[in-house]
Amino acid sequence: MIRVGQGLDVHPFDAARPLVLGGVRLATNGGLAGHSDADPVLHALTDALLGAIAAGDIGQLFPSDDPRWDGVASSTFVRAAVVRVREAGGNICNVDLTIVAERPRISPHREAIRQSVALLLDVEIDRVSVKATTTDRLGFLGRAEGIAALAIAAIEMSDGS
Ligand code: MG
Repeated sequence: MIRVGQGLDVHPFDAARPLVLGGVRLATNGGLAGHSDADPVLHALTDALLGAIAAGDIGQLFPSDDPRWDGVASSTFVRAAVVRVREAGGNICNVDLTIVAERPRISPHREAIRQSVALLLDVEIDRVSVKATTTDRLGFLGRAEGIAALAIAAIEMSDGS
């Protein structure tokens, strides 16, 4: 039995912070505001993993009003979700990630992000897809007010559940 989960996350730009996408710190001017390191890719991925096993969402596991998670690396959240998946008898088949950003260009960083995510999930890199798009300048993402990420995860359940 294959189970599927999805995740979506958005963070606004904050010029005073570094930009971290998929666990990779990018050498750009300005990053994103928010809880933890504000990595929308890993937040969406965490929700996709949790969603596949119906284990709630990142906000339930790591409340944004809890000072323990201030500035923490979002790899912490992904690793916790991976543990939950394994405890539920799940094996990650593949993840497909989409980054929606007017800036920066994602393509120069795509392989580094794939590697980072594959390492976090302990899967081969060919199971990790990273795609990028824009909204053709429409809306808050098009005005480059922030970055959004979408994630889908497929999980094979060993007990058929
Ligand atoms: Mg978030």
